Amino acid sequence: MNAYSNNTMLYLDKSALATDTVRKNRIMPIVKFPNPILTQVAEPVKVIDGDIVNLANDMLTTMNRHWGAGLAAPQVGVSKRVIVAGLEGHDYVMINPVVTESQGNIYRYEKCFSWGRYWPRGRWVRRPRSLTVEYSDLSGRRFEQKAIARGASLIQHEVDHLDGIVIAEKVSQRREHQILLESQLV
Ligand SMILES: [Zn+2]
Repeated sequence: MNAYSNNTMLYLDKSALATDTVRKNRIMPIVKFPNPILTQVAEPVKVIDGDIVNLANDMLTTMNRHWGAGLAAPQVGVSKRVIVAGLEGHDYVMINPVVTESQGNIYRYEKCFSWGRYWPRGRWVRRPRSLTVEYSDLSGRRFEQKAIARGASLIQHEVDHLDGIVIAEKVSQRREHQILLESQLV
């Protein structure tokens, strides 16, 4: 069991509730490789205050503006354990997410905002077939969510960002080689 993996609620600071509704969400600039923040382990969130609420809302706005499926705080220059993800038509904010179990393996063709000009077309990455993620929402309540296939890849991709895991480490050269061979046979 990991230090953040328990059912206790995160402390909700009053400033979070006072977050003004007139504030316009920002589109944040995306941090690209090889910026060192992307290879750091992000800090856990200890208190959900106005800054965290604003960060999460800005991240959602940024993700949706770019038609993305997920975004992690280090990608907008904030080394905190916050991710946002669009799963089955619902936008999730996950604070201190922990993958508590994962099963199976699949290969997924993935893209990342932070890859920028390095790999504009995406790469083949080995991912779990299914997983369970535990996280807090913006009210500080702890939830558990199961995800399969695309959803599992997405969550694992974003949680990896919080652990400073560079996608290059996960690229499957073997799968890419196989795809290349198959494409030449056609
Ligand atoms: Zn990414």
